[in-house]
Amino acid sequence: MFQYHCGDAVRASVRLSFHDAIGFSKSNHSRGHGADGSLLIFSDIETQSFSNAGLVPFLSQLKPYLSKYNVSAGDLIQFAGAVGISNCPGAPRIKFLAGRPNATIPADPDLIPSPANDVDTMIVRMNDAGLTADDLVHLLASHSIARAKNIDPTHHHAPLDSTPSKFDNQFYLEVLLKGTGFPSTSTGFGEVKSGMPNQGELRLQSDFVLARNSKTACKWQSLIDDHETMMEGYKMAMAKLSVLGQNTNELYDCSEVIPNPPPLNSCAARYPPGKGLSDVDKSCDIPFPNLRTQYGKPTPIPDDY
Ligand code: CA
Ligand code: CA
Repeated sequence: MFQYHCGDAVRASVRLSFHDAIGFSKSNHSRGHGADGSLLIFSDIETQSFSNAGLVPFLSQLKPYLSKYNVSAGDLIQFAGAVGISNCPGAPRIKFLAGRPNATIPADPDLIPSPANDVDTMIVRMNDAGLTADDLVHLLASHSIARAKNIDPTHHHAPLDSTPSKFDNQFYLEVLLKGTGFPSTSTGFGEVKSGMPNQGELRLQSDFVLARNSKTACKWQSLIDDHETMMEGYKMAMAKLSVLGQNTNELYDCSEVIPNPPPLNSCAARYPPGKGLSDVDKSCDIPFPNLRTQYGKPTPIPDDY
């Protein structure tokens, strides 16, 4: 399914593992049972929401595996996400636990954070699911390999950083660049000015505000030049996310089946050509890391699928 490539199938698998699991509320269990495969079992219902609509093709690809291997939907979704991201250079090897029972109810689609949310709304939502603000910033490492599917109506495959096939630190740096414009003539829901519009990069409002808010800015900044912590933080946050709503005493650790992701060639983020410290919206009191600038002229971010 992934063809050893960190492309669109991987992006869908990672998004799906998050969207299925986050459908959980500590305060109201009738709103969803977390990483239970509800998005696959009740896909007709859950994909009616804006946030899940883009997952329809990938869900259709995944569905036949349920009966082919007689596995539960929650296991299949988290397994796909863990195997998927292992195709991305620089990604951590995600834990995989098996044994989730199948979903019995669909999740409330409102439980998925929106790109137009403010910081407090997102943190309250994460806390209600059992995750912290730091977990949220770590989970957004996934946007280092992301392309926005249904945000901008005239720019359907827009990357969120300049290296959408590498799990590197560029995302955390590039979201902090001052916004200068939009990558297309239209503006999508939850889209704000990008720091690299001419290269085709899109910026989500949710990423923009988290990078600049006093509650999350220092954690965000710390991930610009620390690839080890970026990997570890994502791995730990995924370990929590992937079992939300589940009884871990009844799950088996099958992490040994997850492949080792390839390493990155270089580990420090670099400013895009022509950019430097003066282009950064500095948002944390800790000194900003000393980074080099990439050589050459700004060029469009190559498309990949
Ligand atoms: Ca679910
Ligand atoms: Ca990247």
